[in-house]
Amino acid sequence: MVEPNLSGGCQCGAVRYRISGPLANMQWDDFTVTRGAIARSASSDLADRGFCRECGTPLTYEGKDAGHLNIVLGTLDDPAAVRPAAQYGLEARMPWLNEVLGLPGETTEDAGEADALKTIRDSSHQHPDRDTDRWPAEQSGSQ
Ligand SMILES: [Zn+2]
Repeated sequence: MVEPNLSGGCQCGAVRYRISGPLANMQWDDFTVTRGAIARSASSDLADRGFCRECGTPLTYEGKDAGHLNIVLGTLDDPAAVRPAAQYGLEARMPWLNEVLGLPGETTEDAGEADALKTIRDSSHQHPDRDTDRWPAEQSGSQ
């Protein structure tokens, strides 16, 4: 999975990053934090989990001795642009996962939540899914 020059960050924008190499088992030389700092929590003796200290967004999985890291794909500015090529940790997969896409579904608006959705959109503190010159970014799409 090679997708050079991707960027991403946490939900609030306090942490932003850029990637210039493969996403899976990415080398540290291919990963640059462009704003803020990644906080870490040791999830075991072998790995740290990186996250934003401001908003809690999970960002990385870092093997302590492996010399590489993995990015949480949902933190990319355009996560749909990257297609996963493999799965890992299958023993922890929820037994219902394969059934989810076959369940009945509806959009938030179809569920009668249009007013709540508008309030969320109008009051969102989420950082835009792109780099900005400053943080916190001004709302309404400014840079
Ligand atoms: Zn954040």
